[in-house]
Amino acid sequence: AVAVTVRELAVAMSKKAREVVSMLRQMGESNVSPSFMVEPDIAQMVAKEFGLRTKLLKLRDSELGRTRVTEETFDSLEPRPPVVSVMGHVDHGKTTLLDALRTSKAKVAGTEAAGITQKIGAFSVEVKDSSVTFFDTPGHAAFKSMRHATSRLTDIVVVVIAADDGVKSQTVEVFDLLKEFPNLAPVVAVTKIDQYDVDTEKAVDRISRQLLEHSILTEGYGGEVPIVPVSAVTREGFDDLLETLLLQAEVLELRADNKAAAEGLVVDSAIVKGQGGVADVLVTWGKLKPKDVVVAGTEYGKVRGLISSGGKRMKEAGAAEPVRIVGMKGLPKMGDEVVVVASESEARAVIAQRIKQQEVKELEKQAEKLGSKRLSEQ
Ligand code: GDP
Ligand code: MG
Repeated sequence: AVAVTVRELAVAMSKKAREVVSMLRQMGESNVSPSFMVEPDIAQMVAKEFGLRTKLLKLRDSELGRTRVTEETFDSLEPRPPVVSVMGHVDHGKTTLLDALRTSKAKVAGTEAAGITQKIGAFSVEVKDSSVTFFDTPGHAAFKSMRHATSRLTDIVVVVIAADDGVKSQTVEVFDLLKEFPNLAPVVAVTKIDQYDVDTEKAVDRISRQLLEHSILTEGYGGEVPIVPVSAVTREGFDDLLETLLLQAEVLELRADNKAAAEGLVVDSAIVKGQGGVADVLVTWGKLKPKDVVVAGTEYGKVRGLISSGGKRMKEAGAAEPVRIVGMKGLPKMGDEVVVVASESEARAVIAQRIKQQEVKELEKQAEKLGSKRLSEQ
């Protein structure tokens, strides 16, 4: 993330610039104007102060070949599907739920099979004329270590709580994590409601009360966190869950430009037999097309093929669509930013710029360490 102007931050939160100005003044900033630059951590604090999740924080850096979102462009953006991660206590049914969703109505984009040998860590489920993208979070522990990367890939977190077990230590941990990332919206799924000794209504009530003790207010219990009973075995509640996720997407005003050059984030990368260097990417903005030249982190490539999570060839990939890019010359890391540039020479220039930025950051870190060491020696 890079610094944004007060105006851009206001747009991202659907607030008036002057509301953000007065908030920043209250927080002790002086000489604040709509063009005042706000650092990412301050932007996060402002969003928190408003009791909001930052809805659309397109923090863009023109030096890296990206455009800025202005008030005029915001209105021309189109709704995009939500990207959802599933988390919760061990054995409460995360994997089973994801597998059931994956096989239920998996959106089959594209035509001919492209011989996929390794599954993409995200998939789309079609709901009426829209869709929901599920991101296969690599486990609770992994989320904790990669939380910044994961949090940037996700809009909504489904917190799975087993009807027969209720709120557990890792359930609470998930909500603690969510407090760190006000841009992530929670939805509670009460799972395993098919079990013979479970009374769904009682389970929802009990879990809502348990959450209340941790200051998490669900719908009907003084708050707004949706709580949906489901069974991954009978698929009861699946329609409700998917509709709830779409409703949340509307509340979060998730939007993207469908005409712009694509941007995205890397989910995974690998050398795959028969495909060569591939990067699994979640498109976050614009349309990704064959022959596009992409920079991913400090690697680049030319799109030779796009493959969907269902293993089909795609003609293009839009916002919130998971896609495999075939044609990478190197392997980027999870969370790396993807941008489309005009040519391979521009790709190399953008990479040089990114490497320089990383080096500057590294030097700043070292200088800071040295400074604090000197201070402690005095
Ligand atoms: P995870 O650790 O959260 O990924 O949990 P799993 O998905 O591995 O599920 C743990 C156990 O609960 C497995 O034995 C599943 O078969 C079972 N399970 C998960 N979801 C349901 C459900 O909706 N109904 C029932 N009856 N069993 C479930
Ligand atoms: Mg699991």
